[in-house]
Formats: sequence, C-alpha cells, structure tokens
Amino acid sequence: MPAMDCEPARKVIHVDMDAFFASVEQRDDPALRGRPVAVGYPAARGVLAAASYEARRFGVRSALPSVTALRRCPELIFVKPRFDVYRAVSRQVHGIFADYTSLIQPLSLDEAYLDVTENLRGLPTAWATAREIRARILEETGLTASAGVSYNKFLAKLASGHRKPNGQFAVTPGMGAAWVEALPVARFHGVGPVTARKMQALGIETGADLRARSMAFLQQHFGKAAGWYYAIARGEDDRPVDPDRTRKSSGSETTFDRDLAEAAEIEAGVLRMADEVWAWCEGARAFGRTVTVKVKFADFQQVTRSRSYPSAVTRHAQLRQASLDLIRSVFPPEKGIRLVGVTVSTFEAPAHGYAGLPLFGSAVGSAEAQASVLAGAS
Ligand SMILES: [Mg+2]
Repeated sequence: MPAMDCEPARKVIHVDMDAFFASVEQRDDPALRGRPVAVGYPAARGVLAAASYEARRFGVRSALPSVTALRRCPELIFVKPRFDVYRAVSRQVHGIFADYTSLIQPLSLDEAYLDVTENLRGLPTAWATAREIRARILEETGLTASAGVSYNKFLAKLASGHRKPNGQFAVTPGMGAAWVEALPVARFHGVGPVTARKMQALGIETGADLRARSMAFLQQHFGKAAGWYYAIARGEDDRPVDPDRTRKSSGSETTFDRDLAEAAEIEAGVLRMADEVWAWCEGARAFGRTVTVKVKFADFQQVTRSRSYPSAVTRHAQLRQASLDLIRSVFPPEKGIRLVGVTVSTFEAPAHGYAGLPLFGSAVGSAEAQASVLAGAS
C-alpha cells in the first residue's frame, strides 16, 4: 500500500434555513406573506426571536428589543413563537440530511454542518449534494435554505451566508485562503463585536490584516484564542463535523451590542436566553435541577449565580422566574453588563437519545463564540 501524502480534502456543507421562524409563520399564514413579520412578543421587555426579510429592510432583526423594532417599523406584525412547530420542521429537515450522511452536527434548530466526503447517495460533488438537499427541503417543507460548501466548517459557515436567501456558495481549496483575506474579520466565527472592535483598534479590519500578524502578536493580544485566529486567517479549520452531541448541560449566552446598565434590558436578555435553553430542554426532553445565570461585566469580570431544585425544572415559567431571580441578585449592577448566559444542568435523565436538535453547538474557537441560537444570523 502506498503511503498517503496527505488526507483527501473533506467536503463540508453548512445548511442554514432562511429567516427560519419567520418563514415558518409566513408559510402557515398566507396573510403574513410579503409583510414585515417579527416572531416574539410586543411587550415592553420582549426581544425578537426572528424577523422576516421584509422586516429586515427596516433594520429589524432577531435579538432586537420589541420596542426598538416597532419604532423602526411601525407596521411590524408580531407573531407568537410556536416552538413545537419549529422543532417538528427541524426534525423533518434533519431527516432529509440523514439520507445523505450520518455525520450531521446540528448547531441550532435551523443550522447544521454535514460532512458529505462520502455521501450516502453517491452524488459526485458536495455542490450537487447541497443543491439536492435544498431542493428537497423546499419540496417537503415549503421553506428555503441556503448552503455553504467547502473543505472545512469555518469556511462552509461563512459561505452559507454569502448567497442568502435561497442560495448556495462554494469555497474551493484553491480559493479559500484568498477568499478569507478579503472578508471583514467581524464576520468570522469566534470574532464577536468586542473582539472585532479590539482588532480594529489594532488595525485589523480584514482577513488579510489578520493574516499579516504573527502568532506571537496574536498571543500577546488575544491569549488562548490566538491559534484559532491564526488558522482561520489562512482558511484553516480542522475541527471535525461532530455528530456526538451527548451533553451534561444546556446553555445559551449572548454578548450585547453594547454594555447594558438598564435592568429591563438586562432582564430581557436573560429571558431570551432562558427561552432558548427551554426550547432545547423541551426538544431534548431533558430537564435539569440546576439553573445557572452567568454575567460578564464590561471589565470582563465574571460572576455566576446558581440555584438547585429538589426536582427537575419542567416548566418554562419556572425556568424564566429562576433566571430572573438569579440575575436580580446582581442588581443594581455597579458596572455595565456585556454578556449574560443561562444554563440548565444536573439532568434527571440522560440528555442523549433525544429526538430534537440542540440549540447550539459546542463553543468553538474562543470564549466569545456566541450561541446566537434560535435567532440565528438569518
Ligand atoms: Mg437561519
């Protein structure tokens, strides 16, 4: 047997449903089609879970407070989220994926990585596979999806956003490094708003700027995340598509666009995370006894507050209340809050073997890798 000089290139597809929750609502109610739709509650403390493309034209997007959304788009139509429906569609889509590969790594209800290096249908290319998967999703669910095709997860995910909505884009091994150089670093996975600002302050705006910095420079300024930034600036990412999602906790966290000091805004963020975690718990039929709220302040000081119950938290309202009680224990915040997270752990039953999809993937690349989850970028 001749020794292999190198591994054959992997073929990875990142599939991302377009404006998922909002599209499901428009699909199921013709009166909503062509109109600016927000999934969420118009209440003072509400935060949008999703926005239709018509709403996005007004600058309305997921994670925006409802009040702000209404100001930007007074004719915005609010629709109550129907997580049971979203989960059912998500399972349907997952079933389509499974016809093509067993290496499926869901990131949220509406996003997944597929490794189709050896696809079960014997299709000649990953491009053709992505096209067929998207066509079947449309045929079987009435919804559109976009796809990114590449030789690793980092590039596939970047590529899926490139021709949204209802498009696909491939980044080949020959073009990967150059393609990354031209993009703003703010779009890179693991580069959140704060890191992006820090990079900008260091004169790093694009992939090319990032690539020009030495490993020593990156380590000096970004510590442990340096290796990740060094690799992605070259279009490199050797993380496998990991279908083993057994987990011991389920959490969601979000970094705010700006540091928050207003109790109402902070609580809204915490509730949004609680809702996301809850959707996962329900989908996975995994309920935990411990609720933890994490807070990161503007100066990066971090605190966590936990509460454990004698039995599992099996009601949505209970998780919301626990999360609120815990965040209120740090009020009034003596400094701005940049991040909040909610986690459920100490599961009563093992979390594997669930039928639904987890709400987010393992944190990757840097501590700032955000679980933008439900809302998804789109
Ligand atoms: Mg999406």
